[in-house]
Amino acid sequence: MSDSGTSLETFAREKLTELDASALRRRLRPTIRTAGALAERDGRRLISFSCNDYLGLANDPRVIAAAQAATARYGAGAGGSRLVTGNHPLLAALEERLARHKGKEAALVFGSGYLANLGITPALVGPRDLVLADALSHSCLWAGARVSGAEVVRFRHNDLADLRRLLDRHRPARRRALILTERVFSMDGDRAPLPEILALAEDFDAWTLVDDAHGLGVVEPGARAPLEMGTLSKSLGSYGGYVCASRAVVDLLTSRARSFVYTTGLPPASAAAALAALEILEAEPERAARPLVLARRLTARLGLPEAESAVVPILVGAAEGALALSAALEARGFLVVAIRPPTVPAGTARLRIALSAAHSEAQVDALAEAVRDLRA
Ligand SMILES: *Cc1c(COP(=O)(O)O)cnc(C)c1O
Repeated sequence: MSDSGTSLETFAREKLTELDASALRRRLRPTIRTAGALAERDGRRLISFSCNDYLGLANDPRVIAAAQAATARYGAGAGGSRLVTGNHPLLAALEERLARHKGKEAALVFGSGYLANLGITPALVGPRDLVLADALSHSCLWAGARVSGAEVVRFRHNDLADLRRLLDRHRPARRRALILTERVFSMDGDRAPLPEILALAEDFDAWTLVDDAHGLGVVEPGARAPLEMGTLSKSLGSYGGYVCASRAVVDLLTSRARSFVYTTGLPPASAAAALAALEILEAEPERAARPLVLARRLTARLGLPEAESAVVPILVGAAEGALALSAALEARGFLVVAIRPPTVPAGTARLRIALSAAHSEAQVDALAEAVRDLRA
C-alpha cells in the first residue's frame, strides 16, 4: 500500500514546507573528510573549518592503525551491552587512561556523548530534585535533565549572580541539586567560570556536571568538577562518550544509567582509536596547543574578541544571511557551516569556525581575508 495521502505524509510535508519557509530545513550532503583538514563535496576539495576533529587525529595513521588492529582482533561490533558480553578489554584500558588524564578515580565509556548525558543526570536526580542548567547548554544536557523528572531551571549564560539567586530560591525545597554547564560552549566558544560555579555548588550542597566536549585536549583544564563528561568524537577523532568521577559514582552509573545499561558497547575500533588518540594528545603538547593559537590568530585578524577556545563564532543574525555567507565561502573553497536555530537561539544564526591543529597559518589567514571581504 502506498504511504501517500496518509495523515503522517501530510504532517511531514507541511512541516517541511514550514522549515523551508524559515530557512531552517536541514539537508545531508555527502562529504569525504581527508587528512589536513580537507573535505570533498560535490567533487570539490574544500578546506574545512567545520570539523570538531580539533587535533586532526581522525585521519592520523597511528589512530587508524590502532582501529584496524582492534577490529582484526576483536571484531567489528561489541555484540552486546557491556554488562552482558560487550565489555572487550580495550574499554577498561580506555577508561583507566581517561580517568588518569582527568585526575579522577574512575571513568565510564558510553556509546556517545549524547548517550552519556542522557544517562548521567537521570541516574543521579529525580522528581524530588533540582537541575540548574546554563541557558546555552547542549541539547543532550537538556534531554538528560528532562528525562530525570527533576525540576529544571535555566540560569542566564555564565551568570553567577543569576545562578546564586536561583539556588537561593529553589534549592531549599529540593532533596538533591545538580548544576549543568560546559567547560567550552559548543556554539560560542567561550568558557564557564568553573572555580566560581564549583564554590557556589559547595555553598548550596549542589553537584556539578561539566560537559568537556570542546575542552578536552584543546584548553587548559583548570578546575575539575565532581562529574566530568565528554566525547571521544571531537579532539580524540573517534566515536563514543565518557564520564569521569569517583569510583563510587562511576560504579553507581554502571548500574543505573539506562543509556549505558540498555545499549550495545562501543565497537572495539572506536575504543582503540580513542585510546591511541589520547596517548598522542598527551605525548604531543605542541599539537594540543595549536588550535587555540590559530583561533587567536583568526580573531586578531577579524578584529573579534580574543578566542577562548578552538571555536570562533561569527554572528550573522538571520538564518538566510548565515546560509548565504556560508555558501559564498564554499564558493571560495572554505567549508564553514551555518548554524541556525534551534541549535542556537532565534536571531543568532552564525558561522561557527572550528580551528584544528591540522590547519596551516596560511589557511587561517586566507579564511580571515575571505570573511572580511564578504562582510565588507
Ligand atoms: C558534540 C557534543 C556532545 C555529544 O557528543 P557525541 O559524542 O557527538 O554524541 C555533547 N555535548 C556537547 C557540548 C557537544 O558539543
